[in-house]
Amino acid sequence: EIHNTLVELRGNIRVHCRVRPVLPFDNIQSLTSGSRPASSEQVVYAISDDTVMVNCQKPGMSVQNRIFEFERVHGPEDSQDVVFEEVKPLLTSLLDGYNVCIMAYGQTGSGKTHTMMGSRLPEENSATQQEAQQGIIPKAAAELFRLISEKPEPSHTVEVSVIEVYNNELFDLLAKDEQGNVVGQRRDVITTSSGTSQVPSLTYEPVCNASEVMQIICTILKLRTRCPTLVHTESSRSHLIVTLTISSKSPNALALTRRLQSAKKDMLHSTMKDRWSPRCHRANPTAHYSLSTSPASSPCLSPLDSPCPSPRHSISQTPFRTRLQLVDLAGSECVGMCGATGGALWEVSCINRSLSALSDVLGALAEQRPHIPYRNSKLTHLLQDSIGGDAKLLVMLCVSPTQRYISESLQSLGLGTRAR
Ligand code: ADP
Ligand code: MG
Repeated sequence: EIHNTLVELRGNIRVHCRVRPVLPFDNIQSLTSGSRPASSEQVVYAISDDTVMVNCQKPGMSVQNRIFEFERVHGPEDSQDVVFEEVKPLLTSLLDGYNVCIMAYGQTGSGKTHTMMGSRLPEENSATQQEAQQGIIPKAAAELFRLISEKPEPSHTVEVSVIEVYNNELFDLLAKDEQGNVVGQRRDVITTSSGTSQVPSLTYEPVCNASEVMQIICTILKLRTRCPTLVHTESSRSHLIVTLTISSKSPNALALTRRLQSAKKDMLHSTMKDRWSPRCHRANPTAHYSLSTSPASSPCLSPLDSPCPSPRHSISQTPFRTRLQLVDLAGSECVGMCGATGGALWEVSCINRSLSALSDVLGALAEQRPHIPYRNSKLTHLLQDSIGGDAKLLVMLCVSPTQRYISESLQSLGLGTRAR
């Protein structure tokens, strides 16, 4: 059991990679490429379902291929549906009681927004063609409501919130002023006494179906470009986090699994503390494992919404609530600061710091270090409950295929490797 639990805890981070096609704009010198010579030659290849090859050619030197392996690799031909198929099981986990986070990492233009939100085709395309272009956020929302509708009784409620992290500050994008106009309001992230992260006064909008979710997000994203208090938010400079909070009114699988998980973790910790002493193992009755087989007899199955009566198994969060966090990160290209001054320099250094804080957290989780430095940035602090502990995290590395962005691509692939 303990071995399985260890494997489970280790298996909570998955890294997928998506190499986008070479596109017409790859031939045009872009802002992010600076003064480097334009080269739209393809150098990044998805060579199998789990392997990426980068053709690193230095002037005057022979070609050197570098290989990166991930849980899943998508090539340019993979559709939005194919990408989503691999994400789908996470929605089941969500209703089983796990917090889930799906984040897209990559430089500007690598396909993060295409992967998370989708792309709009010209008007003349049919609704079916438009739907085929939908990204993970609309598809995940649809799948979530489909799974909920399959439940025998309508016991789940869903709320959406939208947060932008810009210059290490949090903005509640759904906050309205007294006239009902949307204004991005500053918020803070705190750690509650039970150790979970929370954003006080964050706006939550109840939603009943996927199109309501998308309507809210699209309205906000459109408004954002016009709203005077939000003009700073050039999309590639900020992190966008869409959160779906699922609450369940009955002690269903969602609560049970969380409790089982918590009991397992407790047991694991006490066992590790006692250095795997077999005596301790035997001395700790494994009664809480009966949760999986006979929930009705479990002491943890208390009446609705009351906390688990055993203090050892106290659950740090409302037991019947889970979170799906969908993250479109800021462009990862801002590693150098050449040419940036004043506000721009500050902006670049904030993006750098939050992305390197994220990289540190992923590295610490992968190495199972006792201390995970979540609180080094607002971004990681905010995502803490959805990327650590028993939460399930999927990092979607988005990679441009061309020579021009090879250093950004290698950097992204390196981050993905570090997280595994
Ligand atoms: P990012 O959000 O990382 O800056 P985008 O998602 O905006 O990048 O992608 C840049 C452009 O490339 C967009 O026009 C988008 O439609 C297109 N694009 C990205 N990925 C793909 C893909 N897999 N297939 C087709 N077009 C793509
Ligand atoms: Mg984008």
